Amino acid sequence: MSSSAQIGVTGLAVMGRNLARNFARNGYTVAVHNRTAARTRALVEEFGHEGGFVAAETAKEFVAALERPRRLVVMVKAGEPTDAVIEEFAPLLEPGDMIIDGGNAHFADTRRREKALREQGIHFVGMGVSGGEEGALHGPSIMPGGPKESYDSLGPMLEKISAKAADGTPCVSHMGPDGAGHFVKMVHNGIEYADMQLIGEAYQLLRDVAGYTPAQIADIFRTWNTGRLDSYLIEITAEVLSHVDAATGRPFVDVVVDQAEQKGTGRWTVQIALDLGVPVSGIAEAVFARSLSGHAALREASRGLAGPKAAPLGESEAAAFADRVEQALYASKIVSYTQGFHEIAAGSEEYDWDIDLGAVSALWRGGCIIRAAFLDRIRAAYDARADLPSLLSDETFAREIADAQDDWREVLIAATRQGVPTPGFAAALAYYDALRAERLPAALTQGQRDYFGAHTYRRTDRDGSFHTLWGGDR
Ligand code: NAP
Repeated sequence: MSSSAQIGVTGLAVMGRNLARNFARNGYTVAVHNRTAARTRALVEEFGHEGGFVAAETAKEFVAALERPRRLVVMVKAGEPTDAVIEEFAPLLEPGDMIIDGGNAHFADTRRREKALREQGIHFVGMGVSGGEEGALHGPSIMPGGPKESYDSLGPMLEKISAKAADGTPCVSHMGPDGAGHFVKMVHNGIEYADMQLIGEAYQLLRDVAGYTPAQIADIFRTWNTGRLDSYLIEITAEVLSHVDAATGRPFVDVVVDQAEQKGTGRWTVQIALDLGVPVSGIAEAVFARSLSGHAALREASRGLAGPKAAPLGESEAAAFADRVEQALYASKIVSYTQGFHEIAAGSEEYDWDIDLGAVSALWRGGCIIRAAFLDRIRAAYDARADLPSLLSDETFAREIADAQDDWREVLIAATRQGVPTPGFAAALAYYDALRAERLPAALTQGQRDYFGAHTYRRTDRDGSFHTLWGGDR
């Protein structure tokens, strides 16, 4: 077999197969390989006409098909399968070759793998890929980490296959060393959870408080999608809400079991945020909301608990309420992104990655699930000031939240009065109010800690640590 392939993809389930096709359609010769060879044969039989595929049945054949330095993309199930594949291929590679893990790896695994492979002279690129199977085929948003020099040769290929933002910029850039790419992808997914939860809450309010039907709400989302909320998730929400179940003729959303599932990247975002001490309350509420929805027995047992039943508004009030929900959704969205970007900044600082937050917002503008017009504004905020302490410190976002907040508060009052759960909206507003508060009850918390545990406290008027000899026999 001649070493003619510029890139290889091993792992040909939905993602790997579409990524391989994307490389081939862009003119690259692609070596393809899968543990179960039938998948490799099926890909070449079905899509061989799209471009140059070199089918390899064994690891040795696969490696032999790649030109040097070899670029080998791994698209297998994250976790142990990725380690198994690396163990199989690494001994067949030479210094300077690249293993590119495009799966949803935990960034700590990526750091471990990068370190081990670096010792063998192999460049390991942890590469976050977003956009699902369609994105993989037509242009995903790509977040590669790893050694900078590997990006010099890999980057142009990724730029070709990636999504392009509206201004034509490829949605890919080098995020930083070792786990930086997978870290950014993890936070992308956390923000995705928060976005979806906020949209879900907006839907529930429009349904229960405003009294709209799913089809009417779909129209409202379509209108919102022409404004500042313009995004992929709002667009598909309108599609899902207007979909009618063929078997029953009922709105699709009414025949689906209301228990959301999750694969784990949202949970990781929250776990890591806890480790880094970053308050990502909006993302955490989104993860918990999915988890709560899945507790069917608990929900069944709790159905009789006392509380108000939402009473829908009249027609004219409903329209005004929908406008308020749009404000609440937008303001809460600003807060979720503020929290997500804070986590990326904290991870970058902790691991010395030097991640460019403006570049992150730029590459999320196309191809990925959270792509949105809004990201252009985030990029503008970081372009104006790269060391922005928080998105809320950006004048434009601060002003928009100032304009939205009366409606945001009114929406939460209505939700509370009518008993509609809105943990995402509420957490976002609490975060905003906590940041702007003159004094927080943390002073009292410090007093309590000193009382029961002599943990000491700092004072507002003097330097140093203090302890009070509290009364009684303690
Ligand atoms: P998947 O269902 O996560 O994984 C299936 C692939 O992994 C098959 O090719 C399978 O080979 C291979 N595999 C499993 N265990 C293996 C082992 N021990 N050794 C070698 N190969 C093994 O596939 P996917 O949905 O296409 O996702 C691939 C990766 O991309 C995952 O890490 C996923 O998290 C990530 N990702 C997925 C999406 C998405 O929308 N689906 C989006 C972004 C990222 P066999 O055919 O032999 O079983």
